Amino acid sequence: MSETNTVAKPFDGDRPQLFKNVVGNKQVLKRITGMLANNKLSQVIFLNGPIGSGKTTLARIVARAKLCQRRQVGEYEPCDSCSMCKKAINDATCPIVEYHEYGGEDVTEAILDDLKLILQRPWEIVFIDELQDMKPDLLRRFRKMLEGTKATILLATTHPDEIEEAVRSRLLSYEYEITRPTIEEAVNFLENQLRNHQVSFNSRQQLERVSEAYNCEMRPLGEFSRKVLSETGGKLTDEYLDELFGSLRPQSQAATLGNRKRRLI
Ligand SMILES: [Zn+2]
Repeated sequence: MSETNTVAKPFDGDRPQLFKNVVGNKQVLKRITGMLANNKLSQVIFLNGPIGSGKTTLARIVARAKLCQRRQVGEYEPCDSCSMCKKAINDATCPIVEYHEYGGEDVTEAILDDLKLILQRPWEIVFIDELQDMKPDLLRRFRKMLEGTKATILLATTHPDEIEEAVRSRLLSYEYEITRPTIEEAVNFLENQLRNHQVSFNSRQQLERVSEAYNCEMRPLGEFSRKVLSETGGKLTDEYLDELFGSLRPQSQAATLGNRKRRLI
């Protein structure tokens, strides 16, 4: 296996890095953290949800919690301070060889050959994002490999409908549906992010406008504070928002985005 495949990507700076900072999805979180606390994390976790719902973030926190060297029985949060927890965020070269991350389209016959061995080791974690992009014959082979895996396998998809029915039906018992945050959850998240970056804002209405314009997608919301900081020096003004989103009223802005999305589908 090549080095790039055995090195975990560091957390993108502004993604939540602890379960307590994950936005929404309370039921799913309860089930997953419950399994972690009881040391009974299922071998396979399959996250299914739209772009921007936080699947990748959640999968990475699960991996981090599993790798954490200080987490005690009964706890589910990564300790946030051991070397594994630190490497998983800060170190671009983090040599966490026990964590393998792929996009579905990157999975090759050779990677599956490597995974055959890796899946026999209980300490390993394999994350495959955008599972629907894996070639159907490889996906069929991979699905069979999941039976009896000793490693932890995290899977995520934005398009479960593009996964062959015979394969998907075998994954159903591992499936968790992830949803985008509500406007209120998105606004609370933004508010925290802005405060952490010491960006000032005038009203929650501004944050609602941002959340709606971004369709409550976690990725742009997570990057927003840093963007404002670098582009304005730390002050969120209505003029800046007008420039960014046009002077449309929030609702028509959201409607425009909604229509565009529907057309794309
Ligand atoms: Zn730790």
